[in-house]
Amino acid sequence: MRVLEILGITGKEGNVVSVAMNVPSSKIDKKDVVKVANRFLKTEETDKLALVAPKATVNIIRNYKVSEKRKVELPKVFVGLLKCPNPTCISNMQNEPIVPTIDVVDKNQPLLKCRFCQRLMTSSESRII
Ligand SMILES: [Zn+2]
Repeated sequence: MRVLEILGITGKEGNVVSVAMNVPSSKIDKKDVVKVANRFLKTEETDKLALVAPKATVNIIRNYKVSEKRKVELPKVFVGLLKCPNPTCISNMQNEPIVPTIDVVDKNQPLLKCRFCQRLMTSSESRII
């Protein structure tokens, strides 16, 4: 469900969205599958997916065939994609023309750090813009 939230899919767009949970998989015990029709994912969207589904793979299907497989991967830095959870951070001030910049300091945890106030945050504390 967080995957749909990150992609900004509410169901109102009219795309066919199917969600399957606990699908048997050969590589891992089971997996969850989210299928969205007529929606191309930008790299910055798959970057954000890495926060909630670090082991996910994005398959782009064209003409009923997998035309591209993309492993989601945390980028080194999120620029303008995540909000700092610190309300007094300068990146949250409305009058400041600052683009929130959040560094990924540990890809495995994952652990993130605001470049402006140095606040450390986990992926669940980060807020997606
Ligand atoms: Zn901050």
